[in-house]
Amino acid sequence: MIAILIGAPGSGKGTQSQRLVSRYGFTYLATGDIFRAEIAKKSPLGQKAEGYLKSGKLVPDDIVIEIVAGKVEKGGKYLFDGFPRTVDQARGLDDILHRAGTQVDLVVSLTLPNAEAIRRMTSRRICSKCGEVYNTISKPPKAEGACDKCKGALVQREDDSEATAKKRLMVFEDQTHPLVAYYRGEQVLKEVDAAQDPATVEAALAAIVDGVGVH
Ligand code: AMP
Repeated sequence: MIAILIGAPGSGKGTQSQRLVSRYGFTYLATGDIFRAEIAKKSPLGQKAEGYLKSGKLVPDDIVIEIVAGKVEKGGKYLFDGFPRTVDQARGLDDILHRAGTQVDLVVSLTLPNAEAIRRMTSRRICSKCGEVYNTISKPPKAEGACDKCKGALVQREDDSEATAKKRLMVFEDQTHPLVAYYRGEQVLKEVDAAQDPATVEAALAAIVDGVGVH
């Protein structure tokens, strides 16, 4: 099964993906996480991607498609988070899956008003040691600035600053939102209101995945 979560930055894609992965055993592919790991390693790919991430722009399609092509195996059960992000990437993914004898089964669009997306992004904090995600409004740590799990220092992602958050949202509207129409045309699209609390969103997602049937 191939499932995709689409949503504005801040819509809870990462959080909900983790829950779906533990519930259904998907192999999780988050292109943003891949880029951040490569940047931390200072690899050639990381060096190519760094400027784009810092400024909130999209990494060019050919680089992204090549990375994903190298990770998709025949017969796998995948959940994509943050990919595809453009219609060209969606076409690239269709080709990759076609070669592997499969296709996209389900795309869920997590919908969220822009003001709420900005509020969520700018209040997000990440543990610099273990990567656990917090939110100063909806999920504060027990002790300010420290991870509940490993006591690592909590930091703001560089691209979660207000100016870059707004830029990322504009990029989403311009380049990623057209995917909703693309996948509606392919008749695989479902929508979930991401402004609801995380447990309600999770239940709605699980009902959709169960309806399609994980295979
Ligand atoms: P994310 O963690 O999904 O919010 O992604 C963070 C950043 O990584 C984005 O703002 C882009 O710069 C880059 N990125 C992640 N996934 C993609 C993608 N599929 N296409 C282009 N750029 C991406």
